[in-house]
Amino acid sequence: MTQVIVVGGGPAGAATAFQLARAGVHVTILDRAHFPRDKPCSEYMSPQASRILDAMGVLEQIEQSGAAHLAGMRVRAPNGATFHGRFADVRGFRGYRDRGLALRRTILDNLLVDRARAAGAVVREGVRVTALRRDSSGRVTGVDVIDEKGGTQTLSAAVVVGADGLRSVVARRLDLAATRLAQRRVAFVTHFTGIDMGDSGEMHVERDGYLGLADVGGGMTNVAVVVPRSRAREASGDPAAFVDAWIARRRHVAPRFGKAVRVTPVLATGPFASASRRAWAPGAALVGDAADFYDPFTGEGIYAALRGAELLAPRIIDALAATAPADRDAPLRAYDSARIAEFRGKWSVEQIIGVAVSFPAVMNVAARSLALRPHMAHTIVGVTGDFVPAREVLRPSFLLRLLLPWTRGTKRQDQALVNHEAP
Ligand SMILES: Cc1cc2nc3c(=O)[nH]c(=O)nc-3n(C[C@H](O)[C@H](O)[C@H](O)COP(=O)(O)OP(=O)(O)OC[C@H]3O[C@@H](n4cnc5c(N)ncnc54)[C@H](O)[C@@H]3O)c2cc1C
Repeated sequence: MTQVIVVGGGPAGAATAFQLARAGVHVTILDRAHFPRDKPCSEYMSPQASRILDAMGVLEQIEQSGAAHLAGMRVRAPNGATFHGRFADVRGFRGYRDRGLALRRTILDNLLVDRARAAGAVVREGVRVTALRRDSSGRVTGVDVIDEKGGTQTLSAAVVVGADGLRSVVARRLDLAATRLAQRRVAFVTHFTGIDMGDSGEMHVERDGYLGLADVGGGMTNVAVVVPRSRAREASGDPAAFVDAWIARRRHVAPRFGKAVRVTPVLATGPFASASRRAWAPGAALVGDAADFYDPFTGEGIYAALRGAELLAPRIIDALAATAPADRDAPLRAYDSARIAEFRGKWSVEQIIGVAVSFPAVMNVAARSLALRPHMAHTIVGVTGDFVPAREVLRPSFLLRLLLPWTRGTKRQDQALVNHEAP
């Protein structure tokens, strides 16, 4: 007998199940994969993610698993202007930690799912959810699953949580999935050894996409090439050759791959921009990427997944306490409102950054401006690091200083910025 079914055991599902199990709720995670499983991701976690991981009692284990510590982000625009935002240098705000963490998802997700299991959650792996069950009023009452041998089963629960990531089956079956047309990008993610990295993550924005580099511990660098969907067709058949050729064309970064060795297969994912119209329905809720995902540039999906779980679990507990099924709706609706209130500012910042990434001229001006005003760069990185409120960046005065034309520099000034910031 399970009270809550959580579809998906990634960070959102594992954290939701952990919170529920710790409160004594009978909860079952269903995941089509077997852990440890890989997930295409740049594998960086914001300083504030550490707060939630600590509260889950798993932070120490993560640090002991060889996670890298990132002091901030260095971002290079197509014109070469580079800014470097550091978490510890933000004025007026402190993160839970002064650094972000980066760790292979094969390790991180396994630790999180183990944590949920240790708290009392049942974890069923190799089980794919194919459909939702509903009563005559349309309320979700359970799921249909198929196992790897083709065996089918129907499982019932008072609440079903869709934590099944991008292209969530739960969101689609609830008819809540919506596609964001603005961002149609595809990512190719792999790992190399032998790349000289500084103490920060790096984003290299180009006219035809961007490259993310992050030390993820164990001598490995996570390498993510993200391109418009139209360009991704060139990768069909040989994504590794596509990644190699894309990097080889970037003269400022290619030499750093001279002695590098690719040590994991190239995983492709996308297009990824998606959002649910709302994150709840009678008897069900969505969390993590199943509820919303914009673009990996700001690298904060894991925090959003963990924080979403923190917002959702208490509301599910309230819903379970309701005697009549119809009374379970109000707490789930309240979860959706809390989620919007929590993330609305960040969504706006993500969209502004998304526009800059899509339009090289905007990125060039913004990067020059931020390189000339490091405190603004620290603030932006602090917002993406989840410990500076988004309003700090959304102020008209901040946005004006970011984009005013007289922040344009001469070629010589640009070169000085590039030289100054080279890792
Ligand atoms: C290229 C790229 C780079 C990124 N880089 C970063 C980064 O550096 N930092 C960051 O914080 N975020 C990053 N993100 C975002 C981050 O990966 C996600 O936000 C995060 O994984 C969301 O967690 P989740 O638990 O919602 O979903 P997932 O981690 O995707 O987990 C979903 C789980 O559901 C399971 N599942 C799916 N369908 C079914 C089904 N039908 N039945 C049963 N199980 C199912 C899957 O097997 C999976 O285990 C990146 C994303 C991309 C695409």
